[in-house]
Amino acid sequence: MVTSLFDYPESPQYAENRYIPKKLAEGDYLVTIDNGAWALLSEEEHELLKTHRVSENPDLFKKLESLGIIITQSNQAKVVGDYQARFSHICNGTSLHIAAITSRCNQRCLYCYVNPKPISSKGFDMDKDTAKRVVEFMFQSPSKAITIEFQGGEPLLNFPIIQYIIDYSKKLNKKYKKDIVYTLVTNLTLMQEDILKYLIRNRVGICTSLDGPKEVHDRNRRFLGGHGTHDEVVHWIQDIKTQFAYNVNALPVITKFSLPYAKEIVDEYVNLGFNRIRIKHMIYCGLAKENWNKIGYTPEQYLKFWKGALEYCFKINKSGRFFAEGTSLLITRKFLSRDYQAFTCLGWPCGAALTQTSYDPHGDIRSCDESRSFEEFKIGSVRKDSYRNVYTSPRVLNIVALTSGLNSLCDACVWHPYCNNCIVSSFGMEGNPVPKLPIDYECKIRGGLIEHVLRTLAYSKEKRKILMEWCSSKQGI
Ligand code: SF4
Ligand code: SF4
Repeated sequence: MVTSLFDYPESPQYAENRYIPKKLAEGDYLVTIDNGAWALLSEEEHELLKTHRVSENPDLFKKLESLGIIITQSNQAKVVGDYQARFSHICNGTSLHIAAITSRCNQRCLYCYVNPKPISSKGFDMDKDTAKRVVEFMFQSPSKAITIEFQGGEPLLNFPIIQYIIDYSKKLNKKYKKDIVYTLVTNLTLMQEDILKYLIRNRVGICTSLDGPKEVHDRNRRFLGGHGTHDEVVHWIQDIKTQFAYNVNALPVITKFSLPYAKEIVDEYVNLGFNRIRIKHMIYCGLAKENWNKIGYTPEQYLKFWKGALEYCFKINKSGRFFAEGTSLLITRKFLSRDYQAFTCLGWPCGAALTQTSYDPHGDIRSCDESRSFEEFKIGSVRKDSYRNVYTSPRVLNIVALTSGLNSLCDACVWHPYCNNCIVSSFGMEGNPVPKLPIDYECKIRGGLIEHVLRTLAYSKEKRKILMEWCSSKQGI
């Protein structure tokens, strides 16, 4: 009796998984499938796959079967398991909860993705009642692990609410027993010793922005009065690391002013004792959108910068010092592992309105932190909605569908297993969450980063080794 496709006598004993091919070089074809598995095939092998004749080459058959690019009776369960692992974030509930506890800021950085309010403004801080509702909303998520991230504006302008949220979430957690991680994203310029001691006592992770040496950082990141902030930031990074022996993470955002300084930006991180840098491009929203004429660049300019900085990181590693670049490390993990990699922006669906949620000072809920400058991405309010209502609403389901890339050009893209479109960036740039053809700014950058990492893995033995060391090291990201 015929029970499956594989039982037909004339069947090639396999079925092809859905795959996307791309010619990488003369005679070299890359083939990727949705769970992230990939293979480099010769012209001949690609022809056999295309014409359903893989059985004619037993070595190729074995290779494609082990990767799940062809499906046989013996690998079906493994292929299903790989998909479940890769897409586990779809079923786990929201784990990253970003509490934007104030919209005020003492700085006005040129690329800020929200529109910060001046420090003297009234009515832009989260109050206790809203904070209480935010925490109660967070605990409705079915996720066993939750990260509570404090954001602003500058969150230290509303430090009592940080304390309140930490206290109240700890109290509630006696009942819910979740694994909670606390993180503070701060510009560091309002840090004080007693605040720092509190953060250390409560194991709050600290992240800041350092855009490079003074001449770069101070052009991008200034106080409201116009003064650069580099000296204060470096002072606190050094103090936290040395005096308090506590960890602090930092990342640089790249503007047009940063482009000539790839080496100097990396050196700034090396000299401050960091073992990693995650270089970040600007997203087209908030003040970055307003200032684009002054600080913007083309995707090509950004990619040239990033490749130069990455090359320099490789050089540092070749000289014997461990120093990882975070974006390439993350993408490498996506290529080498079938597991879900917990980084919101490069997944599909990306995590907006799924694994990540942002709460503004008034308790309005946004699909992701970067979407805060657009009303269109408001998905509910902790004042009137339950978690269940928000996450089963048509608006949220639409957002998740849009960030899956299945209804845009991403669906036919060879990089889609490691990437997706960004609805916030497309909306900022084009007024439409679905990216238009031809490929847009964000797509060109994401695709360019991913292709560069794949080519490095495929064609440079020495750099592949370094990328793999970054992935396996505990010093990595
Ligand atoms: S919508 Fe864009 S910025 Fe927001 S999580 Fe998705 S990829 Fe990231
Ligand atoms: S955003 Fe661009 S590079 Fe990324 S999957 Fe979509 S089409 Fe491909």
